[in-house]
Order: sequence, then C-alpha cells, then structure tokens
Amino acid sequence: MATAWTRSPRSAAGWPCRSGEASSVWSYAKKWPSFYLTEALLAAGHEVTVIDDLSTGRASNLKAVESNERLTTRWASILQDERLDKFIEQSDVVFHLAAAVGVRLILEKPVDTIEANVLGTDRVLKAAARAQCTVVIASTSEVYGKNERVPLSEEDDGVFGPTVKSRWSYAVSKAIDEFLGLAYCRDRGVPVVIVRYFNTIGPRQVGRYGMVVPRFVRQALAGEPITVYGDGEQTRSFTDVQDTVRATFGLGLHAAAVGQVFNVGNGHVVTINELAAKVKALTESRSEIVHVPFDRAYEAGFEEPRQRVPDITKLRRTLDFTPAVDLETTLRNVIEFERRQG
Ligand code: UDP
Repeated sequence: MATAWTRSPRSAAGWPCRSGEASSVWSYAKKWPSFYLTEALLAAGHEVTVIDDLSTGRASNLKAVESNERLTTRWASILQDERLDKFIEQSDVVFHLAAAVGVRLILEKPVDTIEANVLGTDRVLKAAARAQCTVVIASTSEVYGKNERVPLSEEDDGVFGPTVKSRWSYAVSKAIDEFLGLAYCRDRGVPVVIVRYFNTIGPRQVGRYGMVVPRFVRQALAGEPITVYGDGEQTRSFTDVQDTVRATFGLGLHAAAVGQVFNVGNGHVVTINELAAKVKALTESRSEIVHVPFDRAYEAGFEEPRQRVPDITKLRRTLDFTPAVDLETTLRNVIEFERRQG
C-alpha cells in the first residue's frame, strides 16, 4: 500500500485549500498508478508522503524522485501506520489509492482483500472527517460487476455474482468504499470524489496477480506461451496510466467534482485475442498464443464480465479531458520497460 502527502507553496486555482495560501495534498496508495501520481504531484510543487506496504509495488518504482526533499516515504500498511492520522491532519487532499488489486490476489487472499479495502477506507475517512480534508477514493470498474451494458455510465447498476464466488468480494468491497465515501460526504461534510478506473496499464505494473498486459508482454519476451483466458473474445478498454493520473489529479483539485463519481477510462475497445496478437507482433515474439479455460486459469466456476466499456462523458465535461495515449503507444512503453528490466 502506498501513501503520499503533498504540500505546495501556494494554493492553485480551484484547489480545495483549507488554510489561506498554504495548500497541501496527501495521497496514499497501493494501486501502482500512485507512483505516477506522486511524480505528478512533486512536479507540480507539492510535498508528498507515500505510505505503501509494497505488497503489489516496488520501492524502486519511485527511483526517479527518491532524492526529492519534498517526498517522504513510509513503507508500512495503512491499516497499521500509527502516523496516518497525523499525516491526514496536515493535508488538504488525500489520494486514497490503497486497495487490494489483481484477480489472483483476491482469490488467494479474500480476507486480506476485504479488510484492506473496507477497513483501510474507513480509517482514511474517519481521519479526513476530523481534518475536513478532501479525499479522492480510487475505485474500479469492477463495481459494475456483470453489467455488460456498452458503454457503462456512472449511474448504471452493479450486478454481482453470488457470495460463494469470492471474486465478487472485490467488487462489493469497493462498492462499500464508494457508499462509505459518499455517506461521509453527505452526512459529515467531507469533500469526497470517487474515481472508477477502467483497466489502467503502463510500465511498472506487476503481472504477478493476474494483470493481463504485463503478463502477455513478459510471456512474449521470454518466448513462453501467451495465455489467453477463455475464448479471448471478451473485451476490455485499457487506459494509459498517464491518462488515469491526469484525470485523478485534475478531479482532486476540482471543487465541482466533490460528492460525485467519475468513470476514468478510454473508450477504445479491444478483445483479449487482439491484445495477445498485438503484443506478439510488437515484441516480434515467436510465442504461441494459447487458450486456457477460466476454471484452469483461476478456479472452478470462475466468472468475469464479457465486456466493460466506460462512458467518459462526465469526465470530459467536468475536466475537458480526452485520453491522450493510445493502446499501441502504451504497449510499446511497457515492452521497452520490461526489456530494460531483463
Ligand atoms: N487475462 C488473460 N490472460 C492472462 C491474464 C488475464 O486472458 O494471463 C484476461 C482476463 O481473463 C480478463 C482480461 O484479460 O478477461 C483482463 O484481465 P485483468 O486481470 O488485467 O483485468 P480485469 O478486467 O479482469 O480486472
């Protein structure tokens, strides 16, 4: 898990600043876009504290900024860090990206997943309520569950599978995070913004817990079979991490975003078969593309949404946002990064 706290020398226009000219941002995250967010906050002149238990990230992800004197890192869990309240007290904005991520992790550690999501968010919101600082909660397109409407807009239903299928615990726990955040906003006056990420990809993402792009790229570079799950005709809409971070940063600073939910994604749709073929072509790999049934890839009776496409009209309208990085560019960046890692 990671946390970042930022303080800028002066308040930016539209910044939800609590104390005159002094503006501070605190962000914390386990989701790997937090590393990019930290860099963006530092580049904009803020002070940042990152709290991360490094369960799904690497300290080296912050190598480029580790000597920046406006950065403090604490490699600890947000559930245990005794200074969490203190950091939040000193902050104007918390970017709460701490969450369990990756389908495999959720299946392997369901208790940790639910606790990290629900208890972590509860801790952050309680502290934010005392400090009255803005909280941006990173949520996920998983909250739409099995709703396959195209495209999905923020007010569409979440359709979840049965509780005996632990995959859905992630979706439901993130939905609780959203409910809790919106409730704190309405009942306790905490400025909360919810951002729902749709398949964020880019360099530095780990593939260990199932994320498809780093897995395909590593398999292709190693000449191993590229493992497409199911028939591969399921679609996803991948979003470059730079676009995800730009939207997150922008919404965290935008007073009109408070109390609202935003899809953060890219409308471009691709099947997993097409993705595998693209990765194979871009890496010039000889890897074979193989199809693995879901119950062998995950567990018996595994369910996942067939398609998931965001409607980003609200984001466009609020921030004048257009995704800037196309899939091929992101894949090239991931391939270059993974080649450098060896
Ligand atoms: N997937 C795949 N091969 C892999 C890993 C994932 O075919 O090695 C598929 C997965 O079943 C899903 C899609 O790729 O249909 C995206 O998976 P990911 O875990 O990246 O994100 P999700 O949309 O499931 O949260």
